[in-house]
Amino acid sequence: MKVEEILSRFDLGPVNPGTFYGEWGPTEDRRLLTSFSPIDGSEIAKVAMATKEDYEKVIEATVKAYEEWRMVPPPKRGELIRAIGDELRKEKENLARLLAVEVGKTMTEARGEIQEMIDIADFAVGLSRQLYGLTIASERPHHRLYEQWHPLGAIGVITAFNFPSAVWSWNAFIAAVCGDSVAWKPSSQAPLTAIAVIKVVNRVVERFGAPRGLFTLVVGSGREVGEWMSTDKRLPLISFTGSVATGKRVAENVAKRLGRTILELGGNNAAIVTKHADMKIALKGVAFGALATTGQRCTTTRRLILHEDIYDEFLEKLVEIYRNVKIGNPLDESVLMGPLIDEKAVESYLKAIEKAKEEGGRVIYGAEVLKIEGLEGGHYVLPTIIEAHPDMEIVKEETFAPILYVFKFRTMEEAIRIHNSVPQGLSSAIFTTDLREEEYFLSAVGSDCGIANVNTSTAGAEIGGAFGGEKETGGGRESGSDAWKGYMRRQTVTINWGEDLPLAQGVKFGGD
Ligand code: NAD
Repeated sequence: MKVEEILSRFDLGPVNPGTFYGEWGPTEDRRLLTSFSPIDGSEIAKVAMATKEDYEKVIEATVKAYEEWRMVPPPKRGELIRAIGDELRKEKENLARLLAVEVGKTMTEARGEIQEMIDIADFAVGLSRQLYGLTIASERPHHRLYEQWHPLGAIGVITAFNFPSAVWSWNAFIAAVCGDSVAWKPSSQAPLTAIAVIKVVNRVVERFGAPRGLFTLVVGSGREVGEWMSTDKRLPLISFTGSVATGKRVAENVAKRLGRTILELGGNNAAIVTKHADMKIALKGVAFGALATTGQRCTTTRRLILHEDIYDEFLEKLVEIYRNVKIGNPLDESVLMGPLIDEKAVESYLKAIEKAKEEGGRVIYGAEVLKIEGLEGGHYVLPTIIEAHPDMEIVKEETFAPILYVFKFRTMEEAIRIHNSVPQGLSSAIFTTDLREEEYFLSAVGSDCGIANVNTSTAGAEIGGAFGGEKETGGGRESGSDAWKGYMRRQTVTINWGEDLPLAQGVKFGGD
């Protein structure tokens, strides 16, 4: 399918409105953002960026939608999300193709991302009947004490380029069944995917007669729209996904107004492979973790901690896998690794490798920019393996590219020390069949990450669990489990149905 054909499926033209506030905003007299395909560097289409006035319209519409939506019973809200899930099922292939063209994901990963939206829609439907609070034993006679959960408001969702649709849905579908409305600022590197998603979703909103500003969109730069959102008191929650540096800025802005944040920031994830590992599983798990999405996942395996007894053999086999990775056009189903997002990402890749070498690292595979015939404008690199030392500065940073640093260990204490020696704390994995090693890794003195996996990759989380990480990853939790509580306000209720007014803690007041 040609790019024009994919665009026409979503009524996308050469220049598209970048704001949706119940209706699409104008394109005239707006600065234009060009979306380029990382596959070959070609221009896909342009998007009109929001002015401050456009932004105001978006937030006003989102707040208005919230005021109506909050009184719709949650299971009714769930019905809307069920229908959105069905619409996404119909559009899965088209959306996946657009997403692959815009951010360079392989088709299997792009389909997986849309599937993730469908899965979270299903989860949200079930959740819409399970927004429950606790009943607590009151210390006073004839008193009832309980917690209830109310919608929070219009919320702001700011997303990164590497999961240009799924991360929004993790937030938006859960928030919507909770009774919130959602204003979305997508990555400037993936505005077309966002527009297509908003179009698909709003078909259903319209059919249902739900408030038209329930799911709004505002395309624009982080410095403008991102700042407007994080400082906007009308948005009680900002859910931000992106780099640590930007996340700190957002956190500061929101904290200044005592708002709430869900921060999903960078990772620097490690896999420990012990001498008791099932080698076949470990090799596949490490290779997938390090290579999927061209090393551009927040959960990408960036550090490999190998037991000294298996060190040489494991690396030899891993290098063999790396040699056989088919790199190229991600729309070709046989390709395993597509391009990096842009030229800046290629520069970061090269800079990190240089720095690693300066600090004493030894490249054992990769470290090369590729020019692929017919795709000369694309941003392709060889996945890279570097023997490193845990004290090197560069291994403490997240370079958003397929670079894997390898370390050697002898004892589990040493493995965990290396593992936990970075500022980030998102995902982690151990490959072992030894119960003691596995339990050590999962214990309070083991992995310090929000996600801990045994015999499976650091990458590739399911939607059912709460997703997020500790330390500089920001501490936020999204998606499944009880992450929904982040999108609601808790109210503790005390009801006195007696004929006296007994006070808590035995306090006496007046004449009793
Ligand atoms: P980024 O920080 O450059 O951009 C993220 C978003 O922030 C974009 O929409 C951008 O326009 C916006 N932005 C920029 N300046 C802003 C400002 N001052 N205020 C508010 N918003 C602003 O990140 P990226 O390059 O798009 O994505 C890669 C990063 O995202 C990596 O660090 C990756 O680990 C992280 N990420 C984390 C998770 C997670 O769940 N933990 C998931 C995906 C990506």
